[in-house]
Amino acid sequence: MTALWNHLISCNLSDTIRQILQKKDFSREDLIALLSDNNPENARLITEKAYKVKETVVGRKVLLRGLIELSNICSKNCLYCGIRAGNYNVNRYVLQEEEVLAAAEFAYKQHFGSIVIQSGERSDLAFTDYIDGLLQKIKKQTYGGLAVTLSCGEQKASVYKNWLESGAHRYLLRIEASNPELFRYIHPNDSHHTYEKRLKALKVIQQTGYQAGTGVMIGLPGQTIENLADDLLFFKDIDIDMIGMGPYVPHEKTPLVIDHGMIPSVEERVRLSLRMISLLRILMPEINIASTTALETLIPDGKKAGILAGANVVMVNLTPQKQRENYLLYKNKAGIYNDEWKDFQGFIKMVDRSGETVLWDKAGSSCHFLKKMNVLSEILNE
Ligand code: SAH
Ligand code: SF4
Repeated sequence: MTALWNHLISCNLSDTIRQILQKKDFSREDLIALLSDNNPENARLITEKAYKVKETVVGRKVLLRGLIELSNICSKNCLYCGIRAGNYNVNRYVLQEEEVLAAAEFAYKQHFGSIVIQSGERSDLAFTDYIDGLLQKIKKQTYGGLAVTLSCGEQKASVYKNWLESGAHRYLLRIEASNPELFRYIHPNDSHHTYEKRLKALKVIQQTGYQAGTGVMIGLPGQTIENLADDLLFFKDIDIDMIGMGPYVPHEKTPLVIDHGMIPSVEERVRLSLRMISLLRILMPEINIASTTALETLIPDGKKAGILAGANVVMVNLTPQKQRENYLLYKNKAGIYNDEWKDFQGFIKMVDRSGETVLWDKAGSSCHFLKKMNVLSEILNE
């Protein structure tokens, strides 16, 4: 009798999820129901729907980016991050110009089409000028054949403008948590770490003309399902072009680690991260969504799981091997003992296992952005 009863309840829940999935748009309540449901049959229905949307709109294709972790020197103290200024156990580095140009050359010669330069946040002239020069040299050396994404934190409007003019195309600045209260909980309470500044910087990035990316960490202490539903609505509301979001992974030398008992299990953080990718693919079919290294850190073949949940972008780490262990944003980060060749080959095998194909030599712009800008010729070329 109990088994029959459970079966009837589960069929009823599937019916509700099925009905929600047929809607043209999801309400906040729909998103909360879709995020909280952990019935395996419903999980299958949601992933299937997201993958169908992905297949129809952006194709079963993976866009490749070469990741260069330029420097772990950071002026900020985000409470969750392993390279925060207050962590004195970090060997600080800045990659030499030759190292960055060699990584960009590798990406160009191997037909990546695109790179990401990521760094701790600094606003001093020596740093902003260094990036400026690198952008110009990369553009010259690769004959403009690489699209460049920057992820170097909050900067003045004039700096964002200079970098765009020197050759950057995209900018990634995660909002980290779109709920102002949760944002404040995971950052120091000072004028250097305000929600308002973060949001303003994101708006300036969009207005400057970048393809703009943002994202959140999933499974933060104190984060609710309602917060995650609101994150998805936030991405839609600000009309974002690309998203990088993944599980929160604690780092033992950070203040937030004391809240370890408050965070969901590894399984739940992975489940929620994959569900967030699927729901966002349905909500914003044409944007670029990354399958993150944080996901790969928590489960074997995490990047493949992200691709099959609806993501279409993967980064291959091109940071020189000797500095990888110094760019530890979180614990046990995947791939720190690899070199660029090992990472690259791993990526090719992973895409193969996913049953998808790599889009070689493509800038890999967000279709959402190109449509907004009315760049039809580029859409045809993509
Ligand atoms: N300094 C830049 C870029 C480097 S940090 C910036 O902050 O924008 C890049 C991203 O790493 C951050 O946006 C954050 O979302 C992520 N990150 C940092 N610590 C993390 C952790 N413990 N778990 C998961 N992601 C983390
Ligand atoms: Fe610095 Fe970015 Fe880490 Fe914050 S998340 S401490 S800005 S590197």
